[in-house]
Amino acid sequence: MKQFKTETKKLLDLMVNSIYTNKDIFLRELISNASDAIDKLYYRSLTDKNIKVKHKDLEIFISTDKEKRTLTISDNGCGMTKEELEDNLGTICKSGSELFKEENEKKKNIDIIGQFGVGFYSAFMVSDEVKVESKTIDSDEAYTWISNGMNGYTIEKSNKKENGTTITLKLKEDSEEENYSHYLEEYEIKHLIKKYSDYITYPIKMLCTHTHYNDKKEKEEHSEIEVLNSLIPIWKKNKNKIKEEEYDNFYMEKFSDYTKPDDIIHINAEGVVTYDGILFIPGSNPYTYYTKEFEKGLQLYSNGVLIMDKCSDLLPDYFSFVKGVIDSPDLKLNISRETLQQSKVLRLIAKNVENKIKKELENLKDNNRSKYEKIYNNFGVQLKYGIYNNFGLDKDKLQDLLLFYSSTEKKMVTLKEYVSRMKEDQEQIYYATGESIDKIDMLPQVEMFKEKNYEVLYLTDVVDEFTMQSIVEYENKKIINVSSNEAKISDENKEEIEKINTDNKEMLDLMKNEIEQVSDVKFTNRLKNHPVCLTNEGAISTGMEKTLNALSKEKINAKLVLEINENHPIAKKLQELYKEDKDKLKQYSKVLYAQARLIEGLTIENPTEISSIICNIIAK
Ligand code: ADP
Repeated sequence: MKQFKTETKKLLDLMVNSIYTNKDIFLRELISNASDAIDKLYYRSLTDKNIKVKHKDLEIFISTDKEKRTLTISDNGCGMTKEELEDNLGTICKSGSELFKEENEKKKNIDIIGQFGVGFYSAFMVSDEVKVESKTIDSDEAYTWISNGMNGYTIEKSNKKENGTTITLKLKEDSEEENYSHYLEEYEIKHLIKKYSDYITYPIKMLCTHTHYNDKKEKEEHSEIEVLNSLIPIWKKNKNKIKEEEYDNFYMEKFSDYTKPDDIIHINAEGVVTYDGILFIPGSNPYTYYTKEFEKGLQLYSNGVLIMDKCSDLLPDYFSFVKGVIDSPDLKLNISRETLQQSKVLRLIAKNVENKIKKELENLKDNNRSKYEKIYNNFGVQLKYGIYNNFGLDKDKLQDLLLFYSSTEKKMVTLKEYVSRMKEDQEQIYYATGESIDKIDMLPQVEMFKEKNYEVLYLTDVVDEFTMQSIVEYENKKIINVSSNEAKISDENKEEIEKINTDNKEMLDLMKNEIEQVSDVKFTNRLKNHPVCLTNEGAISTGMEKTLNALSKEKINAKLVLEINENHPIAKKLQELYKEDKDKLKQYSKVLYAQARLIEGLTIENPTEISSIICNIIAK
């Protein structure tokens, strides 16, 4: 007897003691595994000449034995070797179980099934013992795995002759709360298959008897094999006849997600290219989405037969979060990956799919903003990267899908909405960046814009500013960071402030020399109450400096300008010091610069020095 791994054991305890109330789903899980196993075998046969499989022979078979209280699910798919039986059924994938633990501590009674691919184990919710006999097509050896779910499992040789897997469940005895016997009834099996597994593309067969025969022999004579599923895949069914629940169930089962999709796009395209497909926008952001593990792609079928599990050519990167299936009679069955890539049909479908997704997102944005915001929250970053990548090549396609927080509307808005509200005298589109909406809202540079009632977009994502710089301008309005010297906020008194700066040139130069990191120090009228702020010359802002330096070893510096509020008492003080005490002026310059950096969310390089200067001032 071999022992289960600790995590598996924990999960099994939960299964056996079944925190999950809907026990029916075990059948769906086992049938889905069987279907996957058949897919795998068939898929292999398309590229491996040694494997001869006829599509019409592929099937799932269900049988029951009331006397022995067993329910058997059999498939003629890929099967498992001895090692695979141990690996697949003896352990639960690590990342899944770890996560499961965390989740489970957070909230009890969650729907763990499916979420972490623990499907097979659901068999123990209804069984005292589970027997798995399996043989692969490559080997003559077959093995039987048996477990009662608690004390580990055994593996022995079996004399199974055909490739595939047969799972036999010894059902639990009925109790006061639960009736397990009904899983032995034909009508119940039929009902469950229709409810949960109708979309399976292989026939699910069962030997059905006409119930009015009691005698065993008579029964056998009057039995016939019935196909329990409709064999019409859901994507080929009439849209109007599919209930939302059916789509949701199909999605959750097929893509192992436990949250319902946020949006469903069912396509029946005829014309230049003919295909059926269903696209789903997931209801949550999978934890692997921004990892290397994540693979984009849609399932590809040719006339109901799976030919590729994740066809990445069907989705552009910026829509990589979309899941779904595509089925076209125009695609050849025995097509290799390479020729598929060059297939004109595939390219046409991809183009079409992209347009459908884009249209649907636009439609949601215009007509169901709350739903769109939810989707945008999950996947908006991907759209922004989409604009930034390829040097803004795709910006025309994507820029209208972007949402940003607006300082005046206090909610997410589009660029179009922003422009439609622009003040008459306002020439540019303004944005400010920072860690959070609150922090941005407190930036000194933003104050004047608020004062003038100019709307400012608050950007909190790392990629945001890169995206904005890739867009450059929208409807002929330049998109400008409020901290940039290109921001035309204070043009009215331009000459006046220029004169002040020329008059004080020597003092400002002295200050500049004292602060090594700035390219300029000057008086400004863009501030209202704050004494200082940092602005930048050129394309790299302080926010981008932070991001770029986190990404690469090479130091990249924004060209910073320390601006001093000419209306603040500090301006007078500095002028006084320039006349009376230049050493103090130098020290104060450092403090002012440090303050401006801190306000920007930047670190300071000489905190001890600054601290002692400030202490000296306080001590006086
Ligand atoms: P999941 O299906 O989500 O991966 P399961 O616990 O249901 O998780 O199954 C674990 C693994 O066992 C599967 O990934 C598959 O490799 C294997 N397996 C399960 N059932 C079968 C089957 N009927 N035929 C072949 N392999 C199977």
